[in-house]
Amino acid sequence: MLLKGDFLHNSFYTDGQNPVCALPSAIAAFDLFQNRISQRRPALFLDFDGTLTPIVPRPDMARLSWAARTVLAALAERCLVAIISGRDRLEVENLVGLPHLIYAGSHGFDVILPDGRVPEHSCLLNDQASLDRACSTLRQRLASIPGSLIERKRFTIAVHSRNVSPEHVETVKSIVRQVFEEEHPAVKLMRGKMVEELQPNMDWDKGKAVLWILETLNFNSREVIPIFFGDDVTDEHAFSRLRNHGIGVVVAGKTDQERLTCADFRVENSDEVMTVLRCLQECF
Ligand SMILES: [Mg+2]
Repeated sequence: MLLKGDFLHNSFYTDGQNPVCALPSAIAAFDLFQNRISQRRPALFLDFDGTLTPIVPRPDMARLSWAARTVLAALAERCLVAIISGRDRLEVENLVGLPHLIYAGSHGFDVILPDGRVPEHSCLLNDQASLDRACSTLRQRLASIPGSLIERKRFTIAVHSRNVSPEHVETVKSIVRQVFEEEHPAVKLMRGKMVEELQPNMDWDKGKAVLWILETLNFNSREVIPIFFGDDVTDEHAFSRLRNHGIGVVVAGKTDQERLTCADFRVENSDEVMTVLRCLQECF
């Protein structure tokens, strides 16, 4: 459960959060959702795992449904659609498999526009020494913990504990924390749902990636309203940064209703995300 202040480097949005259960449902209150859009043109930003697809035991088991792909393709003909994932960019691009979308991987660190433009920080990401060292240390120290899964992505390292027995989850967390401290300040630590992630220690996140895309494509005008769908801690950066000029939709199941969020609306699962996307498809 995410509680107020439970972020290591992200204290900027500890104010103004609400429990998920206090938010209106984007489906039951779709009129309200539509009113927020008003006459503006939506720009859609979507996380992948847990948002467009249900959470699965291992990352390689995630598949995008035919129905989801169809809705996304139809929406991309009418507005900007971007997928902002924690996965590697090329991986999420292959999983979605649609050519006219914008893809950002590694929680927005790895973003490229169709014309090849990238954020200024991108060249700095080539220095991977700390992450390489952290990855080999993690492999040694976690080798004896069954179920722990280390995923070395292009710009980050994810340590999944979804398949670790409950009595060992805290050990995994404390090992990741140790390695983070050993490599800090070159890396920062993000905590997600059953995943700890070491990232380059830069002032960059999913929210900044969204704002960069909007600005670089000249979509940061009053006629455009960014809408972000996401289920995890890293998506809170986007909810927070879009707070005053966009809409955040948090995907949170029944057990996650007390979690604090900066989003404006809630849905329960990826099926409900599809329902909202279909409603959007019909109304503009
Ligand atoms: Mg997610």
